[in-house]
Amino acid sequence: MIEGATFAAPRGTGGVVLLDAGAARYGVFDNVFLVGLLDGEWPERRRQSSLYPASLLSQLGWSRDIERLRAARAGLADLLGLATGRVSVSTVAFEDDAVVAGSALLEDVADTVLPLTPESFLLGPVTAEAGLAELPDAVTLPQEPLEWLSLRRSRATVAPQRYRGATGPRAPARYAVSAVERYLSGPFKYFASSVLRLGEEPDDELILSPRTRGRFVHDVFRAFFARWQEDGSGPIDVERLEEARAMARVTAEEHLATLPPRDRAVERVWVLGSPAGTGVIDRLLTLEADRPGRVVERLLEYRFDGEYQLEGKEGPRSVRLRGIVDRIDLLEGGRLRVIDYKTGHAPARGQALQLPVYGRCAEQELDGRHGTAWEVDSAAYVAFGEARAWVPLDRRQDIAQAVSQGQQRFLAAVDEIERGQFQVRPSEPYRCVYCEYPTVCRKDYVGDD
Ligand code: SF4
Repeated sequence: MIEGATFAAPRGTGGVVLLDAGAARYGVFDNVFLVGLLDGEWPERRRQSSLYPASLLSQLGWSRDIERLRAARAGLADLLGLATGRVSVSTVAFEDDAVVAGSALLEDVADTVLPLTPESFLLGPVTAEAGLAELPDAVTLPQEPLEWLSLRRSRATVAPQRYRGATGPRAPARYAVSAVERYLSGPFKYFASSVLRLGEEPDDELILSPRTRGRFVHDVFRAFFARWQEDGSGPIDVERLEEARAMARVTAEEHLATLPPRDRAVERVWVLGSPAGTGVIDRLLTLEADRPGRVVERLLEYRFDGEYQLEGKEGPRSVRLRGIVDRIDLLEGGRLRVIDYKTGHAPARGQALQLPVYGRCAEQELDGRHGTAWEVDSAAYVAFGEARAWVPLDRRQDIAQAVSQGQQRFLAAVDEIERGQFQVRPSEPYRCVYCEYPTVCRKDYVGDD
């Protein structure tokens, strides 16, 4: 058996024998072909444990990466010395499809005492589909498929815009800020979700989906801050950190009790932490105690819905929009801080829309609250997927500039939407891996041009 496949046992002493690397080193062979020396597969990439950090495992005697690499090197050296005749070592490289790199162990091949002969193979199409796509004239087809193929090929050369994501002008609408942010991560994704209104595929995983987990942790934070505020407990600073922790833990336990038992244990570790790691509550409260400025009021899950003035490159413009910001802290001195929680990573700086747009809307909507005018003083994502969870919007510029550029990005995206531009153009190719709409997306034409 090799990995998941079972093969008939070889008979006799000759012929080709297919073996995995572990079994092969016990054999005697004339010629040996080592296939699949790929990065991540040989040696196999170790999966990180979500419960036990590497530092803890090494203290318990678990093998360290360096030892695993040494063992893999020794194993490869055994295989290179197996044949009485010739040893062939192969790796592959794909173009366009996926980035595949050769194994780091290939360097060891250069160090052997065996004489080396480099060879390269350019493979032709290996499936009928690949033959059709790349060498259609070489494939003999019946009449009907042949007609479809000619039609398809004639369209590919004409390439009118309507086959490339342009739908024509659309009337201005009331925009959800998160949806426009989604447009920046991939226009077609916005089209599938907000124009076609296609539902996401249901998640049939046995654990909480990222979306449900995000909702859960947002609920815990909202309930805790509401309780802290109702108690008139004031700022969370270093002196009151323990008190805040205790209240947050009680709140979290109440919410954990509402989860199905199978999810509860995992979520408890993530939210409250364990001896091996800090939970998201502790990370949030530590950040909270580090923040400068006395909080006058915390607005939790604040909803915007209306017409707001945003500053574009061509001056101010009214836009109808809606959205919910996780938190707005009103600070002494008419300053406000906008906060958005992310269970994963913060959006790339060039795509962040929610913080700057909500900040600008908050200045307008809260004007006069507590008898004063409000101005954005800071804005940040609290992103638990990042090593440093506090990710400020103004990482490389001042906050006014960051808010102004965010508004311009938002208005530019709205213009594109109203022009009906929904090209398949993911901001990063890896987004297709996690996309909810791959079955309706013609991402095959990306890279044609
Ligand atoms: S599959 Fe990729 S290109 Fe297509 S909608 Fe999803 S993210 Fe965009």
